[in-house]
Parts: sequence; structure tokens; C-alpha cells
Amino acid sequence: MEWCESMPKVELHAHLNGSIRDSTLLELARELGEKGVLVFSDFEHVILKSDRSLVEVFKLFDLIHMVTTDHTTITRITREVIEDFASENVVYLELRTTPKKNKSIGMTKRSYMEAVVEGLKSISSVDVAFMPHDVDARSSLNSLPIDNARNVTPRKRIYVRLLLSIDRRETTEDAMETVKLALELKDVGVVGIDLSGNPIVGEWTTFLPALQFAKENGLDITLHCGEVPNPKEIQAMLEFWPQRVGHACFFQGEDWEKLKRLNVPVEICFTSNIRTNSVSSIDVHHFADLYKANHPLVICTDDSGVFSTSVSKEYSLAASAFGLGKKEIFQLARDAIEFIFAEDEVKTILKQMFDSFVTNLA
Ligand code: 5GP
Repeated sequence: MEWCESMPKVELHAHLNGSIRDSTLLELARELGEKGVLVFSDFEHVILKSDRSLVEVFKLFDLIHMVTTDHTTITRITREVIEDFASENVVYLELRTTPKKNKSIGMTKRSYMEAVVEGLKSISSVDVAFMPHDVDARSSLNSLPIDNARNVTPRKRIYVRLLLSIDRRETTEDAMETVKLALELKDVGVVGIDLSGNPIVGEWTTFLPALQFAKENGLDITLHCGEVPNPKEIQAMLEFWPQRVGHACFFQGEDWEKLKRLNVPVEICFTSNIRTNSVSSIDVHHFADLYKANHPLVICTDDSGVFSTSVSKEYSLAASAFGLGKKEIFQLARDAIEFIFAEDEVKTILKQMFDSFVTNLA
């Protein structure tokens, strides 16, 4: 675990509201409890429950959104989530979130995203590079996790890019609004679109026009795919040929074949899949087969707050469950650089950061 924590890592599948700190969530709920908006003890009970089905997870998200969805809180949790990932040596984070509207508090999808960007700007404890072309090789290399020679802990630096999520409860028009917003926000580090939300809700065809429009306009796309058995949708999603897919728990023969043929990288979220019963245990996780086949993979957290995990813990799990040594784990983490949505300059810097980490250890 210590090794997994110390090495640089890339996180490509993290939902903002799912990555909220437990302590922050309880603090916010207690405040609303005191104002009589909710009953704190009921809320606390749901939050602290450890095993939840996928359906229960989505009920929990509705509760989380009740306490988090105002501008100030969104700014705060963005800051905290980035600080938390940086503290475990994540050097590149693609953070995804669903822009939300709430007329009663004057929130639009745009103002929601402005609150996220405000969070990015407000971080002072670590160096955050989120604007395109904000690539400073020298300061990145100076901020490597360990500097044995000088025995000092340098200031951490994290590259952050944003993905805007379309929730499966949304309409075609909502989805299109999100994609247009993403295009307008490229300058503040938005690089792509995610399709997420309860997988038993909504139809793929509802979102296809917006996703197609996103693709045509140069945004990269990742889809939550095969979280429940739905062969028709899995095939349609693969047909669309996204840049990455998340989960892939309920793929069958021809789905695997197509995924491998198209070489679509898979975002693997062990703890999330097991806690939601999408995969019965880690030793039967599809990671093993994909890893053996040399298929592009990236290990991620999904919702580090909701599932009480971290990127380091997920790598540790992979190491112990599949007998991977330091060398293999490091290689897996480094290979993920190829699947990021940021520009090539960032990839080059990240590769240098990973390689310098090894040099520093020698
Ligand atoms: P937010 O977009 O509000 O920042 O993050 C929480 C949202 O992410 C949830 O409401 C849900 O739409 C999506 N999400 C989080 N975890 C999962 C997951 O495991 N599967 C799917 N399909 N969606 C998820």
C-alpha cells in the first residue's frame, strides 16, 4: 500500500460528488439538520451504511445532491477532492461532474461549472495546472512525490482536466446543453463528455445526438457501459466507438470481441463494482482477462467518498488479488497516461514525472 501511495498515479474515472469527504458530507447534513431541512439521524444512517446495491447508490446520490448542490459547496468540495487526490500523489486527474440547474437558487449548468472552476482556482496547498497549455515541465519535475537526495517533501503538483457528465435522467435537449457548455469551457480545461447516472434509467438513443455532436466537435467521450446486463445497449455503445468505457461488468462474448478489436480502454473500478454487487468478488473480476490480453486499462476509484477508497487502495487491491509486483503496478499506472484526454504536451510531462520517480528511487 505504501508503495502504491508513493508512486505517481493517473485518475481518469472520479465523480465529483461521489468523491466528497465523509466528514464534509456529515458536516453539511448536520447544518441542514439544524435548519430543519432534513432529519440528520436518518441521513447519517444512510451515509454510514457500507454495503449498497447499485440502486441504493443512486438513492444515496440524490441525498448527497440535497446537501451539496449550491455554488459555495460545489466550490468547496472541488477544492477538497483535488487536495485529497494530490495528497496520495495523483499527478493527473480527470474529474467528472454533472452540471446541474436549480432555479430556486439561481443555479444554471454554467454557474454550476463556474463554481467548480472557482474551486480549482482556490487551491493553495498544492500546485494545480488545469488550463490547456499550462504545462511547466520544470516545476512538475520539482514536485515529484519523493526527493531522496534532499530528503525533503516538495510541493505537490497535479494536472486537472474536467469531463462534463450527462445524467441518464436527462433529455436530449439537456444533454445538448451540456455538450455546448463543454465546448464553451475548453479554455478552463474541459476535455470531454461522460454518460453516467442510473443505468436502468433512460435510453441510449436519447443521448446519441448530443454525443455525436460532441464527437464531431472534438470532445473526447467516455461512456458508463455494461454496468447492468443490456446486450443491445452495450453493442450500440461500442458501435459509437467512444475513446474509453467505464466498468464493462456485464459484457459477453461478442462484446469482449468488439471491445478488444476496437482497442477501447476500460476504466476499472474494483471496489465500486464489488460494493454494488456488479462483480461478485475481486478474483473473478474481468480485469484479469483484460490484463492478460494486454488490453488498455486504467485503475480508478469511481466514487472515493461513497466507497471509502483511494487510487492507492485500488492499486493495492490489484497487486494483492492478481499477484502483481511493484514493477507491474508501476507499468500499469504509467501506461494509463496514453488514455488521458488532455493534449500531448501533458502526456510528455507525465511520462517524465513517472520516469523521474523511478530515477529518484534508484
Ligand atoms: P456528480 O456528477 O453529481 O458530481 O457525481 C455524482 C453522479 O455521478 C451521480 O449522481 C451519478 O449520476 C454519477 N455516478 C457516480 N457513480 C456512478 C456509477 O458507479 N455509475 C453510474 N452509472 N453513474 C455514477
